[in-house]
Amino acid sequence: MKDSTLLSHVGRDPASTRGTVNMPVYRASTILFPSQEAYDKRGERRYDDVCYGSFGTPTTFALTDAVNALEGGAGSVVMSSGLAGCTMAILPFVSAGDHLLVPDSVYGPTRGFCDLLLRRFGVETTYYDPTLGAEIEALIKANTRVVFTEAPGSLTFEMQDIPAIAGAAHRQGCVVLMDNTWATPLYFKALAHGVDISIQAATKYMSGHSDLVMGIATARTRDLYLRLKDTAALMGEITSPDDCYLVLRGLRSMPARMRAQQESALTIARWLEARPEVERVLYPPLESDPGHALWKRDFTGAGALFGVLLPKVPGPALAAMMDKYRYFGIGASWGGYESLVLACRPGRTVSRWDDSAHTLLRFSIGLEDTDDLLADLEDGFRRLNTAL
Ligand SMILES: *Cc1c(COP(=O)(O)O)cnc(C)c1O
Repeated sequence: MKDSTLLSHVGRDPASTRGTVNMPVYRASTILFPSQEAYDKRGERRYDDVCYGSFGTPTTFALTDAVNALEGGAGSVVMSSGLAGCTMAILPFVSAGDHLLVPDSVYGPTRGFCDLLLRRFGVETTYYDPTLGAEIEALIKANTRVVFTEAPGSLTFEMQDIPAIAGAAHRQGCVVLMDNTWATPLYFKALAHGVDISIQAATKYMSGHSDLVMGIATARTRDLYLRLKDTAALMGEITSPDDCYLVLRGLRSMPARMRAQQESALTIARWLEARPEVERVLYPPLESDPGHALWKRDFTGAGALFGVLLPKVPGPALAAMMDKYRYFGIGASWGGYESLVLACRPGRTVSRWDDSAHTLLRFSIGLEDTDDLLADLEDGFRRLNTAL
């Protein structure tokens, strides 16, 4: 079965919900048991069955079943945010005195978690050049427990050789985690490429409508799933059944949305690449991108999020261009139906990012008509050139 067919059918059960096509929203704290004995035995199946509101209602399980099927995992866990997805995936595997490897291009708040929180608990992080492949093995120490990955990287879009990194990490007994939000499991099967836990900010493409915040992590084995689930439970992680319903709804149209968005993104990225104002477009699907070969080898599609590098633009000229776009909103988060733009400054410690030489814009392409978006960008460059 192909993924779009799968996503039209998983995570619902009309036979048990009086014929409704969709899984209803079940809201619950208390779950009633037929006897004290049944209540006493609830722990045996607490993660696989409905037993207390914070462990999920049938709506939660419908969503985790759907994502788990798409990822090809042994179990998925929903979290309160994409960031919680990243932090809850790290926590089960590190203790005081341990070490983890994190790509220099990691999503900023994940870096914040390592630097500001894990460090206080005696866990040390080394940031590595995201373009390292099997050579990462040289950075693995006796106390390294986790190799974190994210491809392409946040803001700077470096691709990673996930199978090579996973091979090296596994030889040294490390767990491999991946923030797979950009491609989603639709376009990159992280678990099949050696990742142990695949993480999604469901806030982005899975929900697709900029109306909620959620994370979902999927484990390759039952044991990894239980460690993840135990950690999320101990941290009191809970996700609203209403939001689970919305993400389940988002998944139904995700293949169609992503197909349209990536097609438009590629057209726009190629157009931008040919503009005289643009130095470079950071987008692995472009043949000119240094990560193109890896992307083509391992991924079957692309997120509609990319970077555009301009020679340093003075503040007022940048404002003249950005503040007057008709369709590109200025805002964080991405993956919704509306196009967004943001000027950003990547914080890097391994590969120095020279902020004084470039202006970096990040575009998220939505579902608007591509010609309208191109006309909007063209007007923006006209304003920029007038202001320069
Ligand atoms: C947005 C994002 C997150 C965090 O998701 P939230 O739901 O906003 O916490 C994590 N990783 C990546 C790559 C993201 O873009």
